[in-house]
Amino acid sequence: MSKLTHDIGAQLQQLKEQALLRQRRIVDGPQGPLLSIDGRQYLAFSSNDYLGLANHPALVAAAHEGLRRFGVGAASSALISGHSSIYETLEVALANFVGMPRALHFSNGYMANLGILPALAGPGDTIFSDRLNHACLIDGARLSRAEFRVYPHNDVGRLAQQLGKSRSGRKLIVTDGVFSMDGDLAPLAELVALCERHDAWLLVDDAHGFGVLGPQGRGSLAHLGLSSPRVLYMGTLGKAAGVAGAFVAGDAVLIEWLLQRARTYVFTTASPPLLASALLATLTLLQTETWRQQHLRQLIAQLQNGLAGLPWTLLDSETAIQALVVGNNQLALDLMARLREAGIWVPAIRPPTVPKGTARLRISLSAAHSTDQVAQLIAAICAAAAAMA
Ligand SMILES: *Cc1c(COP(=O)(O)O)cnc(C)c1O
Repeated sequence: MSKLTHDIGAQLQQLKEQALLRQRRIVDGPQGPLLSIDGRQYLAFSSNDYLGLANHPALVAAAHEGLRRFGVGAASSALISGHSSIYETLEVALANFVGMPRALHFSNGYMANLGILPALAGPGDTIFSDRLNHACLIDGARLSRAEFRVYPHNDVGRLAQQLGKSRSGRKLIVTDGVFSMDGDLAPLAELVALCERHDAWLLVDDAHGFGVLGPQGRGSLAHLGLSSPRVLYMGTLGKAAGVAGAFVAGDAVLIEWLLQRARTYVFTTASPPLLASALLATLTLLQTETWRQQHLRQLIAQLQNGLAGLPWTLLDSETAIQALVVGNNQLALDLMARLREAGIWVPAIRPPTVPKGTARLRISLSAAHSTDQVAQLIAAICAAAAAMA
């Protein structure tokens, strides 16, 4: 055995001993509240398909139509000959939907952030980042080689101090709009005000807000009634939008710059046109089936009421992400296992995805769930809590 495989084998063994080894499960069939996982049927609260669109007949039909008109592959990068007319239509529709001058489509959210940050900031500049930001914002910041300053979660006061002391060239604040493991919102109004006071820019990653928050799901900026030329809005299209991909919207000059310089846009094959076709169907549904957001809000209130008396902390969240923090890694796994025995699938999330000592169940609700299904989840968690006390 080589030294490399020996060392890595030992590291894997360590992960196993710390109950940190992750496992993929085989899912059969389409996404929905009932999932076939490793051959057994579960009631699942694990997906980011917050509006239940991932297998919606209108999206499936639009994907078929896109397939018929455009074939499968885009065959080259967008800047060579891969920019399909349907992506041009989608970018205009996305910009209109979020109320910004222009939008640029990326193949996914991770790639978007890896491309946007190095295009906007470099050596001599500073990126200010919330402690709980998603991994791809952190990686994008590292790739930029700008100075990287982390501020405590949602701590606008500390961020203001950091900005006040900064003598750097460009100042770029980056934040999740809705935090992916806690479900809370960034203080976007305060962040925009700081940008104006300190001549800084704000990039909002709204992976969990787009489609869910704001009128017709126009996102967390719309939810708070905010707009500013200093803000770039990044939304992903594989979660509430039910398909795949991402986009960034904002000032037309900045978007043109990203088109020229974001390396994950320039040097990658354009996405399959059939996905854009499905996404245009999503945008129509967001504007015609607003009952989805309303039903989701109802389920959130039902869950919060149902879990109020537990010995664990349900984090304060008005979004589809409801985190039940139990603390200990093994306890989180045991709770997950008990629910699984009851036929319910809720993922346990452990470090390094969340800070040490805050292992949790990440319950994600979807408009596709029924109130009966949420009642089943509440009953199973309460029964597990009683048995584990
Ligand atoms: C999921 C997620 C991403 C990555 O988006 P993909 O399209 O899945 O690559 C980026 N940011 C946040 C906050 C996310 O939760």
